[in-house]
Amino acid sequence: MPFIDLQDVGTRPRRNLTPHRRLQVWERAAGVCVLCDRRIDGVRERWIVEHIRALELGGEDDPANMGPAHEACALTKTREDHRRAARAKRQKIRHLGADTPKRPLPFGKASRWKRTLSGKIVRR
Ligand SMILES: [Zn+2]
Repeated sequence: MPFIDLQDVGTRPRRNLTPHRRLQVWERAAGVCVLCDRRIDGVRERWIVEHIRALELGGEDDPANMGPAHEACALTKTREDHRRAARAKRQKIRHLGADTPKRPLPFGKASRWKRTLSGKIVRR
């Protein structure tokens, strides 16, 4: 697959997350987790800035697409996002015809074996 970089299909660029941007994201959501809708205690609980629509799924790296989330909530979402992105990439590769089949179809033109009209299996 020379023309498709598996790592970068559909992924948006990520800007630096400065303390000011973290504060901006926190203020926009009023300190409420965007995943479970419960308040985050910023002092006692670990939280991260979450992209509501993941960058790898075409989401923007923009405050409108960002919100604070409990670290534990984000872990589950990130895992699900990776699963969906990997699936989207596999589909895109297949739809573009960018992959080559690993094995020839049984008894297809590329196969070493063929089935005659009488049903006998012979070497090509
Ligand atoms: Zn949460």
